[in-house]
Amino acid sequence: MQRGLPADRRAARDGLHDMLSCKEITRMIASDELAEAGWWTRFSVRVHLLLCGHCRRYAAQMRRIGGWARQFATGEPEDPETLARVRDRILSGD
Ligand SMILES: [Zn+2]
Repeated sequence: MQRGLPADRRAARDGLHDMLSCKEITRMIASDELAEAGWWTRFSVRVHLLLCGHCRRYAAQMRRIGGWARQFATGEPEDPETLARVRDRILSGD
């Protein structure tokens, strides 16, 4: 099965003039790829997040969801205040 180059190699090949797209950024944030990515990819993502409000918001939401997943997995009690705040934000579509 033919698979694309890892994001790292692709980024290194394309160089500075080809920043990662929003689609690529959000895909990496949603997967575990970023944790294993090289410095160039992590740097590129950081720069992108500095410049792009959409991806910044997406990254913040993913972090929050990741926190819930951890709480759920570890059985740690949720902070009711945080849950209520997040629920309100989700329901308001923000
Ligand atoms: Zn973006």
